[in-house]
Amino acid sequence: MSIEVRNVTKLFGHFAALKDVSLTVPSGELVALLGPSGSGKTTLLRIIAGLETPDEGSVHFDGEDATARNPRDRRVGFVFQHYALFRQMTVFDNVAFGLRVKPRFERPSPAKIAERVHELLALVQLERMAGRYPSQLSGGQRQRVALARALAVQPKILLLDEPFGALDAKVRQELRRWLRRLHDEIGITSVFVTHDQDEALEVADRVAVLHEGRIEQEGSPEEVYNHPVSPFVFHFLGNVNLFHGRIEGGTMHVGEFSLELPKGTQADAASAVAYARPHLLDIDHTPLPGRPHFRATIRHINAAGPVVRVELATGSGGIVHAELPQERYRVLGLQRGAEVYVSVKDMKVFTSPHGTSGAGI
Ligand code: ATP
Repeated sequence: MSIEVRNVTKLFGHFAALKDVSLTVPSGELVALLGPSGSGKTTLLRIIAGLETPDEGSVHFDGEDATARNPRDRRVGFVFQHYALFRQMTVFDNVAFGLRVKPRFERPSPAKIAERVHELLALVQLERMAGRYPSQLSGGQRQRVALARALAVQPKILLLDEPFGALDAKVRQELRRWLRRLHDEIGITSVFVTHDQDEALEVADRVAVLHEGRIEQEGSPEEVYNHPVSPFVFHFLGNVNLFHGRIEGGTMHVGEFSLELPKGTQADAASAVAYARPHLLDIDHTPLPGRPHFRATIRHINAAGPVVRVELATGSGGIVHAELPQERYRVLGLQRGAEVYVSVKDMKVFTSPHGTSGAGI
């Protein structure tokens, strides 16, 4: 089932939690709502679920206006950050709950309910835990029970609000991969709220980045990561180096280097900022011709991990972070305190804090 949110505004008193938000989730996709605390993610999810009413705009399921439909009629499954399982009920009874409270004429027979619950427990790989109580499960297992419970009533849409937020990093990572597989297996449409960019980029087909009640950018993980439309998205989706300077005659002048901008892309500006992700900086012992570069001193090297993180101080005292493949690091034989040249493989220039007039090089 597809979801379309059209021009939704939501006010709490005078405060606008959502401002003219539109979002389309095609049937079968997994979309992440990503943003900092207070950006409106949960409010948007609750509006899709029917737990909040928009002040303006509408929500459509498969093209039909569902704005006035109550949550029970929306065929939506909801999973929250805090498991919210019934503590006095076994795993089996928790999962069966939604089926047992159905109106008599819709309620499956006890045998059918048992069959469905066992199927769901198999799906979330907890068949052997049916008789346990929530207190006898790990956090990750509880969250899988919550998911099985949400799926029991065969929703067309699955809404997840920071479902793994309370779990430790390793379990989170396992569960998000598992969720992705499950989503594909059952062919449901899912919307997933998170403030963790790695989680969103790894799991989702599309990512909507929220900022102060608006969707600042929407696209595939690759698009939002590699082509951020604003400084906010740049910052939010990973580490970035900022170079402050000015633009004159198509060239950006930063203290340490000059950068020729693609012709006609940038008007003169007294103040501009170039953004470059750490993996787009390279280090060498000699300047690399044809690329903007500057001199810097290595302050710190962290070689534990798939990439080597190098912290450098520029001539003007600024700090810059570069990430190199392990092999490149070994070839260069970098040492703390060494003077090197840093070249910039790609960067994007913004002339205003919300400007999208960036130009890659
Ligand atoms: P978090 O990651 O912290 O959960 P979020 O992006 O999900 O944040 P929301 O919960 O949607 O953000 O809240 C958006 C804004 O709306 C916040 O400033 C919040 O304080 C406000 N807000 C949310 N619910 C209400 C409410 N019922 N009454 C008043 N203000 C609210």
